[in-house]
Amino acid sequence: MLIVSACLVGVNCKYDGGNNDNEKVKEFLKDKKYVLVCPEQLGGLTTPRKPSEINNKDGKEVLKGKSKVVSCENLDVTENFLKGARESLKIAKMFNCDKALLKESSPSCGCNLIYDGTFKGNKISGKGVTAALFIENNIEVFSEKDL
Ligand code: SF4
Repeated sequence: MLIVSACLVGVNCKYDGGNNDNEKVKEFLKDKKYVLVCPEQLGGLTTPRKPSEINNKDGKEVLKGKSKVVSCENLDVTENFLKGARESLKIAKMFNCDKALLKESSPSCGCNLIYDGTFKGNKISGKGVTAALFIENNIEVFSEKDL
């Protein structure tokens, strides 16, 4: 069973109210069982919402309490991102998911890359907060770019 970023199959949960609808993802999922989540919505953030980035390294550091997630208006949304990750993990466990197909570069869902916290469009290697929590709980993560 897979757990999947909802925006990848056309759910309008992205920060700007849109989605990341991806034909490759839908083709890949065609014969599989999966459940959709949007960690940022599960963390209590609205859609649309201001974009946020991790301000020091990546989601692993956020889980350790050594980094924060901050919006482009400098609002600390770390607790929302942590809650969203925990709620997503609860759902993953409920459905016995052992793999997660997540949206690359998101501060929640990024599997290989995330933005560097400067809001200048620079990417660094690292995991989003939910991806990092999934890995800690033995859920294999991969992104649409890995397909
Ligand atoms: Fe998509 Fe994840 Fe961002 Fe939600 S938190 S919009 S599922 S990338």
